[in-house]
Amino acid sequence: MTILVTGGAGFIGSNFVLDWLAQSDEPVINLDALTYAGNLENLASLEGDARHRFVHGSMGDRDLVQRLLAEHRPRAVLNFAAESHVDRSLHGPGAFIQTNVLGSYELLEAVRGHWAALPASDQAAFRFLHVSTDEVYGSLEPGAPAFTEQHPYQPNSPYSASKAASDHLVRAWHHSYGLPVLTTNCSNNYGPYHFPEKLIPLLIVNALAGKPLPVYGDGQQIRDWLYVQDHCSAIRRVLAAGQVGEVYNVGGGNEKPNLDIVHTVCALLDELRPKADGSSYKALITHVQDRPGHDRRYAIDAGKIERELGWRPTETFESGIRKTVQWYLAHPDWVAHVQSGSYREWVSQHYGEQ
Ligand code: NAD
Repeated sequence: MTILVTGGAGFIGSNFVLDWLAQSDEPVINLDALTYAGNLENLASLEGDARHRFVHGSMGDRDLVQRLLAEHRPRAVLNFAAESHVDRSLHGPGAFIQTNVLGSYELLEAVRGHWAALPASDQAAFRFLHVSTDEVYGSLEPGAPAFTEQHPYQPNSPYSASKAASDHLVRAWHHSYGLPVLTTNCSNNYGPYHFPEKLIPLLIVNALAGKPLPVYGDGQQIRDWLYVQDHCSAIRRVLAAGQVGEVYNVGGGNEKPNLDIVHTVCALLDELRPKADGSSYKALITHVQDRPGHDRRYAIDAGKIERELGWRPTETFESGIRKTVQWYLAHPDWVAHVQSGSYREWVSQHYGEQ
């Protein structure tokens, strides 16, 4: 048996591949376009491991995906690939439509063609798992109940609109064609290998470099946070036991205002890497103009996946954020390579020109 993962060189995808191969010998075909967010250095520990086959290419390349499916006959396709950064989507929405909408469409069509030609028993066992976000549900008022799977889609950014569109395509490919799909909508992840354009790694990296810690507006935007390995375990659980056609919300039960996150990261750095002059990293906090249309609150009700599939996160926010800060302190080379873009040289040294 084999699984095919798209976007497995990104933050969550690479954590998933590492986690999968730490727990199982089932090989992974990893299809990734290596955009700025794809980093094969995340998977350096798998070098020479025959269970991991990396393929440089796009999920939007239908011929390539068809060839991979015919050659490897995976029992499941897990779609992590995306453009994922809200700020980038505000400045350049086109790439988000191209990748998240059209790329997902091409992938679905390649998978549908492959699946339709399988013998009936293999068709029944096959799964297409689509990894998505809670941002498709829009913004919640303070005190309003957390998002359930029944919450209407109300995306507010080009990123969330493009992810919402891909979720709808996945749903339609099930209802129209019978493709056995599963969808997960997860809250904000954090943990190792997170590209430092996102809030938590940006805070750590900037603080260590003595740079300002930017906080949008009043910093009172509330997000739910989940340690990335808990997201990986949820995806494994949904793949193993989820009901075909169903959607599962995944969250950490950790609603926090962004400003609290900034204070927590600063306090951990003050403890783990105190500044020579004894001052706190909090002095670097700088409020900047808020993002246009910035959603005020996301909150996930993960009751369904807990009740039906017995999944629950294992990390608290306190334990997960401590592990995360420790990981960044222990991996200055990874951070330096990501910041300088020199991981691309590393890729060509280790894998040849990609
Ligand atoms: P990421 O930006 O770190 O990684 C995305 C990966 O997809 C990169 O390796 C990139 O090279 C690859 N990619 C982009 N276009 C591709 C294409 N056409 N074909 C193949 N590969 C392509 O993103 P992430 O944070 O790891 O998110 C993974 C998925 O999880 C996304 O679908 C995202 O919407 C979703 N998600 C993310 C979060 C979060 O907090 N990061 C939360 C919930 C859901």
